[in-house]
Amino acid sequence: MSLTPVDPTKPYDPENIFAKILRGEIPSTKVYEDEWAYAFNDIAPVAPIHVLVIPKNGYVSWDDFSEKAPAEEIAGFIRAVGKVARQLGLVEEGYRLINNIGPNGGQIVPHIHVHLMGGRVMGPMLTPE
Ligand code: AMP
Repeated sequence: MSLTPVDPTKPYDPENIFAKILRGEIPSTKVYEDEWAYAFNDIAPVAPIHVLVIPKNGYVSWDDFSEKAPAEEIAGFIRAVGKVARQLGLVEEGYRLINNIGPNGGQIVPHIHVHLMGGRVMGPMLTPE
């Protein structure tokens, strides 16, 4: 996989790796699926639970999604993220959501995805510079 940061101003690339996962062209370990979202295990987990939740339609980033997605789709996606956490039994002990956007955010895959991480104390949000 290319580690080139995403340019969030570029149009959506339907050949990106998460688009291929949605089409079933490359394998993934499904955690949850509904009309709006698909959730699967991150291939390189950084916590005991590390799931990626993605909308089923193609949006490059949070910027693209928040600007262009219909309200029903935004609501459906955000509800799906909450459902995944509940399904995984993470509500009581808590969990962390991360969305990386563009070069400074550290986004590598150009299909918006929320990292849902749990199963341990996540520690400080960022390491101070
Ligand atoms: P980001 O830096 O926010 O774009 O995160 C991309 C995430 O996608 C990383 O945590 C990768 O480990 C994960 N990833 C890349 N390829 C795959 C894949 N084929 N299946 C599951 N997770 C993947």
